[in-house]
Amino acid sequence: MANKKSQTTDGNDLRSLLRAKANVAMTDLDPGATPGFPGTSKADVADLTAELAPVLSDWQERLYAENKEPDTPQRSILVVLQGLDTSGKGGIIRHVFGLVDPQGLKIHAFKQPTPEELSHDFLWRIRQQLPSPGMIGIFDRSQYEDVLVVRVNELVEPAVWQQRYDLINDFEASLTASGTTIIKCFLNMSPDEQKRRLLERLENPTKYWKFSHGDVEVRGRWDDYMVAYQDVLNRCNTDVAPWYVIPSDRKWYRNWAVATLLLEHLEGMNPQWPQAEFVVEDEIAAVKNSLPQR
Ligand code: AMP
Ligand code: MG
Repeated sequence: MANKKSQTTDGNDLRSLLRAKANVAMTDLDPGATPGFPGTSKADVADLTAELAPVLSDWQERLYAENKEPDTPQRSILVVLQGLDTSGKGGIIRHVFGLVDPQGLKIHAFKQPTPEELSHDFLWRIRQQLPSPGMIGIFDRSQYEDVLVVRVNELVEPAVWQQRYDLINDFEASLTASGTTIIKCFLNMSPDEQKRRLLERLENPTKYWKFSHGDVEVRGRWDDYMVAYQDVLNRCNTDVAPWYVIPSDRKWYRNWAVATLLLEHLEGMNPQWPQAEFVVEDEIAAVKNSLPQR
């Protein structure tokens, strides 16, 4: 089952296609692009997802099972989802991570810090939500908010946020050294698409709860956020924890791309089923003989 190869058009892995380039400029990135998508249209995505689902599910279970083997390295995955409001952080959690066993997931959404969180260094609350071995952790927002919203809204002095890029790089390097594979996804959406999605929320009473006036204020600072995101992509794009830029104007592409990136990372990690720590035949006999014959 778990030998399915990634689905991209040209055999290139999606990791190389989506990896943020050095010195990237936001204006070079196309939110409507569909790099590597093997189908010809949205209509193909259902079949591709149907193919991916059992494969992802199998790999996730292997990762979890591998951790039960005492002699193997302790490994986990951390998916970091960053993007402006409506870019699809929640949608990815539902549509991509909904394909695997929820027991293997640790999902956390980072909100405005509580007074207690603010009394510690900015990575304190992040450390508490890291996935344990065998798990796939998902961050809906992350340590990067502390160089994004915090910078744009001037919540700390520039000297404070400026040193955080290096702190984040060190933190991520130590995480990867201790067995966590980090997959950082920037969900790149155009301002027009965001406008459409925000208006959609206001046209549908079942979506009112997702809307907040604050989203309009954040939208009003679009250019400042793009500068802040560009710095994140350029300063925290290390080889051990690279950024992937996910064109996100088309939801179906965005979801396929994140699912495929996850698949490629799992294939690269190649977790194996643990060996039995018992003699299988003996245990079969023991089960068969464990109740009086009926
Ligand atoms: P949402 O993801 O729509 O539920 O909103 C969460 C809000 O929390 C967003 O407006 C974020 O910008 C904000 N937030 C998350 N992390 C931080 C942080 N470290 N400092 C300030 N605001 C934050
Ligand atoms: Mg919101």
